[in-house]
Amino acid sequence: MTTEHAAAQINAWEVAQRQFDLAAERLKLDEGMRLVLREPRREFTVHFPVHMDDGSVQVFTGYRVQHNLGRGPAKGGIRYHQDVSLDEVKALAMWMTWKCAVVGIPYGGGKGGVIVDPKKLSQKELEGLTRRFFTEIEILVGPEKDIPAPDVNTNAQIMAWMMDTFSMHAGYTVPGVVTGKPISLGGSEGRNEATARGTVFCVIEAAHHLGIEIPKARVAIQGFGNAGAIAARLIAEEGATVVAVSDSSGGIHAPDGLEVARVVAWKQEHGTVQGFPGAADITNAELLEVDCDILIPAALENQITAANAGNVKARLVAEAANGPTTPEADEILHRNGTFMIPDILCNAGGVTVSYFEWVQDLNRDHWTEETVNDKLRVIMVKAFGETLEMAHREQVDMRTAAYLLAVKRVADAMELRGLYP
Ligand code: NAD
Repeated sequence: MTTEHAAAQINAWEVAQRQFDLAAERLKLDEGMRLVLREPRREFTVHFPVHMDDGSVQVFTGYRVQHNLGRGPAKGGIRYHQDVSLDEVKALAMWMTWKCAVVGIPYGGGKGGVIVDPKKLSQKELEGLTRRFFTEIEILVGPEKDIPAPDVNTNAQIMAWMMDTFSMHAGYTVPGVVTGKPISLGGSEGRNEATARGTVFCVIEAAHHLGIEIPKARVAIQGFGNAGAIAARLIAEEGATVVAVSDSSGGIHAPDGLEVARVVAWKQEHGTVQGFPGAADITNAELLEVDCDILIPAALENQITAANAGNVKARLVAEAANGPTTPEADEILHRNGTFMIPDILCNAGGVTVSYFEWVQDLNRDHWTEETVNDKLRVIMVKAFGETLEMAHREQVDMRTAAYLLAVKRVADAMELRGLYP
């Protein structure tokens, strides 16, 4: 079975609920609290029209889900992808709740998505779709209520259109309504690199713990977008050798190492990493099984499954993507002694710098990139240390440890607030 086939058969929401159930069981969470945290607080579906360039009108479907608001306003990206589903958005929203809790930033979890292949839209159509979708979900969002951000196939330009749409309706500029904006519109220094930088901070901590020397490490990365391509650059800057990368078209492998900047330029020119001179083309399935020390999944969910987990050779898996490993694969990796940095910890750098951006926007302030990166390092290193300590104390794997930390923090907040009315 190919990884794409395996991924299509696994429901991310069921995975998310199973991960939560495991943590709830270990924490002996009160039954009522379990029922509350197992479901999203709000699920919103919209069907909305967009003017296409050929004069026709097309109707698209989008979602915004708020999983939990116990620790603060909802926070989470908006994804544009042809395979978006309500269940996927629910899973991603729940993971955001735990992620914000693991790194201790004052947010709940949310997520959004539109069923669309944006590569098939013109810039004008993309802007029209973005502005109308944001108008439709405006009853939920706002700087004190729910603050979207970029995710797969959405970027700073799309955030700018969302911010402008909200501001036009408000009658004044509201920069704090979305994060991941361009710097000139109240975006934060370092936000574009933040997810990858947070991942690399975690990898450095984990490598230290495992006795892996980064300058001698070989790294394979699945996904070559915001998270993956920047992680490739940053880990190479630390001295590691990037031996394989991939995008949705497939991957490339060069055991002696890839020059990341040249691969970035190649992808810009050719639309894919494949065909890169001096490297062998491989499939995305093969990329996960490449001989390497560190594997960074940075694409989509359900890539490492029961079908291929046994073939993963990396000693360290760092989940820059959300949900790339199924629970069955987790068990296999754990049994094989693979050290896992789970998504809710590993990619939390993105939401952490989003939080910095929001704080700067609300205060009409602008921090230097050095300040942002320093603050990010402090938060990531602390969260990694707390998770590792929990894993040792409870004798559990890193994902379970991160869940124990996160679910406990959210449950405590809910308990303290009490059940209204
Ligand atoms: P992106 O759109 O910038 O890049 C996605 C990359 O994945 C592209 O290179 C694409 O070609 C590739 N891809 C798509 N389908 C693939 C497949 N089947 N196999 C291999 N590669 C495939 O998106 P991104 O922001 O880098 O997000 C990637 C992952 O990181 C997602 O799971 C996302 O939820 C997660 N994440 C992103 C952020 C962020 O700030 N951007 C934060 C936290 C987590």
